[in-house]
Amino acid sequence: MKLIKLAAFAAIAFTAPIFANDTIIPVSKETKDITTSLRDKAIKDDSAYEILKSLTTEVGARHPGTAGEKAGIEWGIKKLKALGFDKVYTEDVKMNGWVREVETAEILMPSYQKMVVTALGRSKSTPENGLEAEIVHFKSYADLEKSDDGSLKGKIAFISNRMERFKNGAGYGSANIARSKGHELAAQKGAEALLIRSIGTDDHRNPHTGATNVAMGYTAVPAVALSNPDADQLVRLMEYGHTPKIRLNIQTKDLGPIVTKNVIGEITGREFPDEVVVIGGHLDSWDLGTGAVDDGAGVAIGIATGAFIKNNVKVNPRRTIRVILWGAEELGLIGARAYAKARQADGTIENHIIGSESDFGAGPVYGLQSSDNISPNALHVVDTMAAIMGKLGVSRRSGNTSGGPDMIPLAALGVPAINLMQDGTDYFDLHHTPDDTFDKVNPEHMRQNLAVWTIFTFIAAEWPGSFR
Ligand SMILES: [Zn+2]
Repeated sequence: MKLIKLAAFAAIAFTAPIFANDTIIPVSKETKDITTSLRDKAIKDDSAYEILKSLTTEVGARHPGTAGEKAGIEWGIKKLKALGFDKVYTEDVKMNGWVREVETAEILMPSYQKMVVTALGRSKSTPENGLEAEIVHFKSYADLEKSDDGSLKGKIAFISNRMERFKNGAGYGSANIARSKGHELAAQKGAEALLIRSIGTDDHRNPHTGATNVAMGYTAVPAVALSNPDADQLVRLMEYGHTPKIRLNIQTKDLGPIVTKNVIGEITGREFPDEVVVIGGHLDSWDLGTGAVDDGAGVAIGIATGAFIKNNVKVNPRRTIRVILWGAEELGLIGARAYAKARQADGTIENHIIGSESDFGAGPVYGLQSSDNISPNALHVVDTMAAIMGKLGVSRRSGNTSGGPDMIPLAALGVPAINLMQDGTDYFDLHHTPDDTFDKVNPEHMRQNLAVWTIFTFIAAEWPGSFR
C-alpha cells in the first residue's frame, strides 16, 4: 500500500500518468465482473429517483441569490453526508445575482388579451408601470439583423422562429441566438424591448426563461419570452393584417455581489486518492419550476452513483470519485469556471483523469461518446464501458464531446471527458418552464441512468491506466 501511494505522489509531482500510456493496460476480469454485478443491481435501484424526489419536493427551485438556493446547498451537504461520502465540502463562488419580480404582458389592440411571458436572465426592467408599443415582427434573428439601425424607435422587436425537436437537442443552438444576443440587436435597431418566441418545443402555455449573454448588470433593453401559443397568437393577428399594440411590464432586480457554492462529495481513492474522476450535475435551477429535469436529475444521478458504488463494493475504487454539485450553471457556468480556474492555479488540474456531467434531463441514456483528447491507448476502456452498457440500450458513438456544460472549462484545460447521451426528445418541452417538475420524471429511466453512470464511474476510477 505504502509503495503504491509513493508511486502516486511521484506521478503527481511529475504530472505524468501512473503508467506510461504507451502501453495498453487491459481492464481486468475482476473489474469487469464487479461492474457487471453493480449494473445488474443498480438497474433495480430507485435511489436516484428518491434523491430527486427529495430535492424537488423539500427544496424546490434553486435560483442563485434566493432562499431556495441556500436551502439547496444545505440539502446537498446533508444528503452527501447521510449517504456515506468520505469527504463533503463546499467552495465559495463570487457572482452577481439577479431576480425577477413582475412580468406581465397584454395585447391592447386590436382587442384586449392577456399573454403569458417571462423575463430572460438579467433582463432590464421596463418603466415602473410598463411600456406600451406596437410589435414589429421578424421571423428570425437574421431578419432583425437586416433591418436598419435606429429603425425600430418606439416599437417592440418580436422574433418568432420556432425551435425544432430532435432527440439530441440539436435545435437548441441555432434557436438560442435570439435569446442570448437578441436584446443587443434590438437595442441597436432602436427598439424599446425584445420579445421572442420561447426557445422550446412544446405547445403548452408556459414561457421558457434562460440566460442572455450578460454576466453582470442588465440586458440592453427588456428581454422577454412568450409562451409558444402566445407567439402563435401574435403571428396570426399579423396574418389578419393587424399591427398588435401591447403593454409590457417587467420588473427585475440586480442583487449585486453574492456568493454561491459548489457542493462536493468524495469517495476517496484507495490507491490514488489525489487522482479524481469528476461526475455530477448543477445544483442551481431557474426559478419558474422546481428544477427536476434541469438539473435535479443530474444532481440525483451523480449523488446516487457515488453512494451506490461506495455502498456496494468491498473496498473503494483506486481513484477518488468526486461528485460536484455545480453552482450557478444557468447564469453562465459560474461555479464551473471558478472551479477550473482554481485547479489551473494550484496545478491539480493534471489530477483530473476524466469527467462528465449529467445535464440533459431525465431521459434514458442511449449513447456513449468520448472526447478526442483521450489517449488512444485508453479507448479500449471506453469500448469496454459501452459493451457492459449494451444490455441497457447504450451504444458507442462517434463525435467529440466536452462532457456537459459544467465540464466545458475543464475540457478547455485538457481534461478528458465522456458524454452519456440522453434521449432529449421531450426535454425542451419542459426546459426552463414552470412545468419542470418531478412528476415528469420516469423512475425506470432514473434506474437506467444510475446503472449506466455506475459502469462509467466505477471503471474510470478502478482501471489503473491513464485516460490522458
Ligand atoms: Zn442545466
